[in-house]
Amino acid sequence: MFKFFTQLKKHFFDSSFLPFIFLGLLLISQLLLALFLFQTETVVLILSLLALGVWLVATVIALNLIEISSRLDLERNQINAMIYSIDDPAVSYTNDFEIILVNPALEKFTNLKREELIGKVIRPELSNDARYGFLTKLIFPSLAPLVVERSADTYPQKIKVKFDQPRELTLEIVTTKVVDEHGNNYGFLKIIHDLTKDEALQKTQRDFITVAAHQLRTPLAGLSWILELLVKKELGPLTPEQEKLIKQGQEAVVESLKTVEDLLTASQIEEGKFGFQFTQADLIPIIEDVLTNFEPAASKKKVKLIFYRPNFKLEPFVMDPLRVKLVLEILVDNAIKYNVENGEVAIKLELDPKLPFINISVADTGQGIAPQDLSKLFTKFFRSEAVMKEETSGIGLGLYLAKNIVEHHGGKIWVESIVGRGSTFTFSLPLDPAYLPPQ
Ligand code: ADP
Repeated sequence: MFKFFTQLKKHFFDSSFLPFIFLGLLLISQLLLALFLFQTETVVLILSLLALGVWLVATVIALNLIEISSRLDLERNQINAMIYSIDDPAVSYTNDFEIILVNPALEKFTNLKREELIGKVIRPELSNDARYGFLTKLIFPSLAPLVVERSADTYPQKIKVKFDQPRELTLEIVTTKVVDEHGNNYGFLKIIHDLTKDEALQKTQRDFITVAAHQLRTPLAGLSWILELLVKKELGPLTPEQEKLIKQGQEAVVESLKTVEDLLTASQIEEGKFGFQFTQADLIPIIEDVLTNFEPAASKKKVKLIFYRPNFKLEPFVMDPLRVKLVLEILVDNAIKYNVENGEVAIKLELDPKLPFINISVADTGQGIAPQDLSKLFTKFFRSEAVMKEETSGIGLGLYLAKNIVEHHGGKIWVESIVGRGSTFTFSLPLDPAYLPPQ
C-alpha cells in the first residue's frame, strides 16, 4: 500500500496519469455522496465501493505500465545517444526489416536522409533500386558483389564485403541482435566499419616490401654464389683467417636470403597467391629431414634434438608437404634459437581423441614466453623484447607464416609456455581430406 502511494505521488503530475486521478476523485466524491445523502441506498453504496475497487486495480496496473514504459524510454534514449555518438554508420531495424534507428554517419554513408529511412521496410527486392540499393546490400550483405569473409551464424555476426558501386569499398558489417531482458528478439543493429583506407594502406606497404625483397634477392643470390666459389678455393688458396671470415659472410648472406624469402612468402599469402599444392604425403620422413638439416645448428648451440616416434602407424595423408616442412622448420629453428645451452628440443605426435587430426608438438627447454606476449606471437613482425636484446637474427615473420599455413590445412596452432622452463608449440593437421578447407 505504501509503495502504491509513493508511486501515486511520483506520477501525480504525469500528464498520462491525470485522467486516472480525475476518475478516482469522481468515484470518491460519488461514494461520499452515497454515504451522506442516500444512507439507506445500500445498492448505490455497494456499487460505489465496487467502482472504487476497480479504480484501485486499474491504477496499480497503469502505474506499473508507466514504470515499464519510462524504463524502456530511458534504455532507448541511452541506445540512441550511444549510436548517435559513434563515427561508424549504424542502423537498427525490426524483425520485419523496418528501419527504426539510424545515425548521422549512416545518412552520410548511404546518401539518404533520416526521413527517407525511418519507417522504411527494406526487402531484398530493393537491391537494384537506384536509391535504396546500396542500403539494401548493407542490410542483406550476402547480396553484396563480393563476400570476402563470414563469421559463424552466431551473434554478433561479422561479414566482410567488397563493393565497386557507388565506389570501391571494403566493409566489415557487424550485426547484433536487439533483445530485451527476457531474451525476446526485437530486431537487429548493424554497425559498418569502413576498411577501405586501411586495406589500401596495407596494400601499399605490401607492394613496397615485395618490390624491396625482389630487388634484394638477386644481388644476395649473386653474393652467395661468389662466396661459395671463394670457400671452395676455386679462385685460389685462402689463409685460415680469410676462410673463417668468408664462412661468416656466407652465414650472414644465408640469413638475409631467408629473411627476403619470408617477406616474399608473407606477401604471397596475403594476396592469396601462395599456391598450395596438396598431395598425399608421409609426415615422418618430413620430420626426420628437418631434424637432420637442423642438426649442425643444434650441435653448435649444444642443444639435443629428440624425435619421440609414435607408437601408432601413421598412414600418408593429404597435405602440402613443402609448406608443412616449412612450419616444422620455423618451429624447430625457434626452439633451437631461443633455447639454453645443453637444452633439448623434443618432437612428439599425438592423435586427437575426438577428430581425425594429428597434433604435432615441438617442445623446448628455453627461456619461455611472457604471458602478455602469448597472444601476439602469431602476428606479423612480432618479436618479444627479451628476444630482441639477445637474438638479432629474425624479423618476427616465422610464426605468422606457420599459422597461415596450418590454417590453410584446416588445422590450428597454439603454444604453452612457462617462463624460464620452456615452450611447447603444437599444430594440428587433418588426417581426413574432408576437413581441408575449400581452397
Ligand atoms: P623470429 O624468430 O624471426 O623473431 P617468429 O615469428 O618465428 O619470428 O617468432 C616471433 C617471436 O616469438 C620471437 O621473436 C620470440 O620472441 C617468440 N618465440 C618464438 N618461438 C619461441 C620459443 N620457442 N621460445 C621463446 N620465444 C619464442
